[in-house]
Amino acid sequence: MAKQQDFAEKVKKASAERGTKCPKCGAVKVPTAFINSVKTDIGSYRFNRSLIQVCKCNEKEVYA
Ligand SMILES: [Zn+2]
Repeated sequence: MAKQQDFAEKVKKASAERGTKCPKCGAVKVPTAFINSVKTDIGSYRFNRSLIQVCKCNEKEVYA
């Protein structure tokens, strides 16, 4: 039984490293590349690429 416990601990640790759990919805936040278009002073568009943490709380905003 000790071996099974070790395995469970490893899985737990691995999932913890992959993402943080949202305290609100309980889902693991997934790092997602989010591209934002920003209009500059000269009227052209610049694209900002940022990595955001997506969970059930904000996925609708992100994937809209
Ligand atoms: Zn959430």
